[in-house]
Amino acid sequence: MSIPHYPLFIGGEFVEGTAKSRFEAINPYKKAVWATVAEAGEQDVRLAIAGARHAFESTWSKTSGLQRSKLMHRLADLLESNAARMGALESTDNGKVIRETRPQMIFAARAYRFFAGYADKLWGSQMPLDSRDIVNYTTRQPIGVVAMIIPWNSPIGILANKLAPALAAGNCVVIKPSEHASVTTLEFAKLVAEAGFPPGVVNVVCGGADVGRALVSGGVNKVSFTGSTMVGRELASLAGQCLLPVTLELGGKSPNIIFDDADFEKAVNGVLGGIYGATGQTCVAGSRLLVQHGIHDRLVTQLAERAGKIRMGNPLDEATEMGTVANEPQFRRILNCIATATAAGARLVAGGSAATGKHLETGYFIQPTIFDQVDNAMQIAREEVFGPVLSVIAFGTEEEALEIANDSPYGLAAGVWTQNIGRAHRIARDIQAGLVWVNTYRAVAIQAPFGGLKESGFGRERGEEALDGYLTTKNIAVNIAVDSHGANADPFAIKGLT
Ligand code: NAD
Repeated sequence: MSIPHYPLFIGGEFVEGTAKSRFEAINPYKKAVWATVAEAGEQDVRLAIAGARHAFESTWSKTSGLQRSKLMHRLADLLESNAARMGALESTDNGKVIRETRPQMIFAARAYRFFAGYADKLWGSQMPLDSRDIVNYTTRQPIGVVAMIIPWNSPIGILANKLAPALAAGNCVVIKPSEHASVTTLEFAKLVAEAGFPPGVVNVVCGGADVGRALVSGGVNKVSFTGSTMVGRELASLAGQCLLPVTLELGGKSPNIIFDDADFEKAVNGVLGGIYGATGQTCVAGSRLLVQHGIHDRLVTQLAERAGKIRMGNPLDEATEMGTVANEPQFRRILNCIATATAAGARLVAGGSAATGKHLETGYFIQPTIFDQVDNAMQIAREEVFGPVLSVIAFGTEEEALEIANDSPYGLAAGVWTQNIGRAHRIARDIQAGLVWVNTYRAVAIQAPFGGLKESGFGRERGEEALDGYLTTKNIAVNIAVDSHGANADPFAIKGLT
């Protein structure tokens, strides 16, 4: 049986890489090759950047906001009408359940609509100076060509966080999806072409680390990266050498804090969804569960019982609650983390190994795992697992909870479960995280800014603030004096003061 092949998308054309090499897309549920993808070389990256630069200078930066907005709405329409198909492709490519991938396509479409609304409203301001002879105003302009490097866990959703504000602001882009999940980004490129975007506004080059490095050092004007902290650090230093601005959305080790007075059932669901949603392969996974002593035993018992009942299976099946891990290296990494935690003395109360059984034989399945009696100094509490592994840490007081929560190199998300409104706001105020959820977890919206502190990165995606990452401010001062006695009268005087 023949399998589909996906070429690169450069300058509005679907093309093979100049080296004619390909790599395989693996379905993690079947551990089988299901598509092939053209691999870009340095020459292709150069062509993509040149194509984006040409589109930026000749067309896109001069296209009206209204026209950009119309194209973005058209793209959103296409994404919506293709949501079921695109969701199924993404589930096939990365093992994420269809009940999450399909709504993510709708969420991505929502992002294009949200930022389309800004495309014709990107005005600056006018500020009166001390001198009446100078009119001073600002304009907000696109940065130019943006490199976007994305991970495998939610390619289309994560791309939308970057691409929607970038296009609205008038930038052109070169996207590099992960070598572990490239297919939906290339399918998405077909929708971009169908929507009628000018050639070169959006380009897609595929491959691994070398392609990412070539892109960052290839003459772009900005880098937007989502991925691991380790790679983010490397890319930020490379971008630093080229003096490029960077937005980094990196990893997390997010605390989910449950106080004795929490609504028990709600908290149980929040904890389960927070760690096992997306098989734990989300940057905001609530992977450190901080539990107050009074509720600890009851909560851990209940969580272990519920974790054992989570329905694993074919990611394309609507009934499946937890899909596979997305690829083999990640599968091995998670099993290693579990072994290390066991060796360090954490007490295993659920899961702890690869999952086997009916419908699970072929895929990269890992049991929903819980470690109790974790010390915050253990590796399992400090390093991101990016898998279905929960670490439980008990605490006594509010101060202690906050201290443990903040004792982490990361600062992406946090959850707090309590009926005490004052305590909820105190924790929200003092916790070192870019996102805080009170009595809920993983609640996201396109209007709400998203991003981290510390080693979780910098810059914000979604929300109005995302536009700041793709715009630059220009100041313009105009001398309107009627004669040479005005602002130009004394060549050595500082202009604008009086
Ligand atoms: P990764 O860092 O390994 O790879 C991310 C992207 O960078 C991929 O496209 C990869 O090909 C590329 N890349 C890898 N090494 C590179 C290098 N040396 N130079 C240039 N490019 C390189 O991350 P991953 O394993 O694909 O994804 C998982 C990570 O992503 C986790 O750490 C997770 O927390 C993070 N993540 C963060 C967010 C967020 O919004 N904060 C969202 C999703 C995932």
